[in-house]
Amino acid sequence: MDRRSFLTKVTSASALAAAAVAVSYPGKSTHAQVKFRWRLAHSFGPTAPVYAEALKNMADNFRVMTKGRLDIKIFAGGELVPAFGVFDAVKQGALEMFFSASYYWAGKVPATQFTCSVPFGMTPQQVSAWFYGGDGLKLWQEFYAKHGLMVFQAGNTGVQMGGWFRKEIKSIDDFKGLKMRIPGLGGKVVAAVGGVVVLLPGPEIFPALERGVIDATEWVGPLYDWHLGLHQAATYYYSPGYHEPSTANELTFNLKKWKSLPKELQEMLVHGAYFLNVTGLAEFDAKNLEYLEKIKAYKGGKIQFRTFPNDVLKELYKAAEKINEEVADSDPDARKVYDAYKKFRDGVRTWHNINEVAYQNALKTVGAI
Ligand code: CA
Repeated sequence: MDRRSFLTKVTSASALAAAAVAVSYPGKSTHAQVKFRWRLAHSFGPTAPVYAEALKNMADNFRVMTKGRLDIKIFAGGELVPAFGVFDAVKQGALEMFFSASYYWAGKVPATQFTCSVPFGMTPQQVSAWFYGGDGLKLWQEFYAKHGLMVFQAGNTGVQMGGWFRKEIKSIDDFKGLKMRIPGLGGKVVAAVGGVVVLLPGPEIFPALERGVIDATEWVGPLYDWHLGLHQAATYYYSPGYHEPSTANELTFNLKKWKSLPKELQEMLVHGAYFLNVTGLAEFDAKNLEYLEKIKAYKGGKIQFRTFPNDVLKELYKAAEKINEEVADSDPDARKVYDAYKKFRDGVRTWHNINEVAYQNALKTVGAI
């Protein structure tokens, strides 16, 4: 196609698009001039790897795409409201939107434990399939609407690591009396097998582990763990993160403010959630492998990589299945969401067993991994 005919085609396409807009929004020419200056608060640090940059990029993209009509200012945890105050701030309408991980709201909304990460639950790919291909997002939006919120899944840390341990785990008895920093459902599992669960915010984890105040901690994976310095405080690095196989992030809006947005800006925000969902997981995977190499090379290979022994995993699984059911029984929404979660999980597992798992096994068989 020569330049002239290309330009003609582009011009025709633009004219069609303009005509379509004019038809879709009759008499609303002034609406396009309204500017929306929104504030997004998140639960992470101002320089948090992956999240801080992805959110900034999303907001920059909106400004470009809307020529400044949608202008979102980002605030890190503690800048405008406390890191874990974002849910209430947006629910009450003090802020328009937040980005976080829904298991932080377990005490307020028990069902959120099944929209974030479930011990021995689905993987990131499976969870996205449930939210965006199955009924997961619809159910999430239903119970968030009761709190005046609108939500989209927006990012994932990937399968996390099992954690850092000062001593080796050889049997389930090694969990008895083990002081471990591990929040959420994973913490309930560790407590059920005899561990002493300690809850500490990010900055306090390293000194506690280094001084032996705690014997073990989980955090995220190589990238985040390196930034916390955990490799300097414990020798044994365990996988897999059975307790957090898929920690899904959320992009959440005050429902009234959401409804006040023109449809085209709502659509843009939905695509912002898609953007975060893709770039979040991609960045975690790409950076985790880079930091895995750093951890492997630390002090000439001081860090000992381990996987939990099979017998230990079986005990943890037994405890997790019981706890997941107990949490589901504690609240009608939690039960409804967990039943849907299980139904989708079992189906997608059957499918992934014959494609994903079979492929991974094939790679092992041929010696590629
Ligand atoms: Ca974690």
